[in-house]
Amino acid sequence: MAQKRKASKKKPAAKRPQRKKPAKQKIQPVEEILFRVEGKMSTFGGPKDTGMSASEGLALFTQADLQDPKYSYLFLPTPPPGTTGLGRRLNPDKYYFACRWNYNDTPREFLKRALARVENPANGRTADARPADWGPNISTGRVADLSPGLAAALGLQTDDVVRITISALRAIPVKPVKGAKQAAPVGRTAPPGKPVIKQFTRSPNCSSRNVGTKIDKIVLHCTEGSLASALAEFQRSDSRKVSAHYVIDRNGDIYQMVNDADCANHCMGANAGSIGIEHIGSETDALAPPQAAASAALIRWLLQEHQIPRTNIFGHDFTPGYSRPGGTSCPDKLFGPVHSQATIAAWVAANV
Ligand SMILES: [Zn+2]
Repeated sequence: MAQKRKASKKKPAAKRPQRKKPAKQKIQPVEEILFRVEGKMSTFGGPKDTGMSASEGLALFTQADLQDPKYSYLFLPTPPPGTTGLGRRLNPDKYYFACRWNYNDTPREFLKRALARVENPANGRTADARPADWGPNISTGRVADLSPGLAAALGLQTDDVVRITISALRAIPVKPVKGAKQAAPVGRTAPPGKPVIKQFTRSPNCSSRNVGTKIDKIVLHCTEGSLASALAEFQRSDSRKVSAHYVIDRNGDIYQMVNDADCANHCMGANAGSIGIEHIGSETDALAPPQAAASAALIRWLLQEHQIPRTNIFGHDFTPGYSRPGGTSCPDKLFGPVHSQATIAAWVAANV
């Protein structure tokens, strides 16, 4: 949802149904890899790095960051004589590094806060380090530049192989709810059945798909509001005229509001070939375990039913064709703490 966040914010706080916390679900942390690279390295940064010009800056930091203790420790207290840029002002003893980031997968703001595990596969030594810059140039044949201090700590010399991983810990239920996990192996041999729809309430905010339009993607949303307010909003034809094919409550109940054969209004610019699934949650909620299981079961069925490629499951903001990419925080933190398609893909890989 969240196509017009302001409008929904101003509404009188719709009463959220009492969150029913499932009684003592066992939660297991799993590692979700958001970035990984392995290959040759070199070193960079600091007063002695004459490979950087005196005024060269860094992709992830600005002068303003020197005022922030979270970042200022990476830098020398004063600029080295004759320099103005942050590159030469890096403290070569601190642990930082550069990789050729794809900012779609790992946005700058995420990288600024991220801590990576940097390893020397040859001797098994590891250290935590902070992303600082974009590089090295692809023509070098190297995948990363490390601070001199980090390279020394790991026993790495120029053109040695380094492995860098950025991951997040995510909590998943050990025991799947509603038999979702039992459905998974079955699903590989026999087509999964359509999950039970608790209630079908047709939304007026839909249209016929153009003849010949194939359903080729699934778009995942967060309602940023209660079940009651989402169901009510999708039934109103005098308001934002939004809808979704499915709405999944925190307890795993699935509501359908638009037939798959029709277009719902859930992701401007990408409605033609997509199925929209709303999940009840606030901006800061993760999926509730029964909700995650229901969503995975529904997605499995949709993939099979419409022959949708597994790679075509997107978070609202990252959907190809969405008319305002970067314009919504949806699907918020439901699938993981980081706002990126990589987060969605990792959840799909682990759950669907
Ligand atoms: Zn959305």
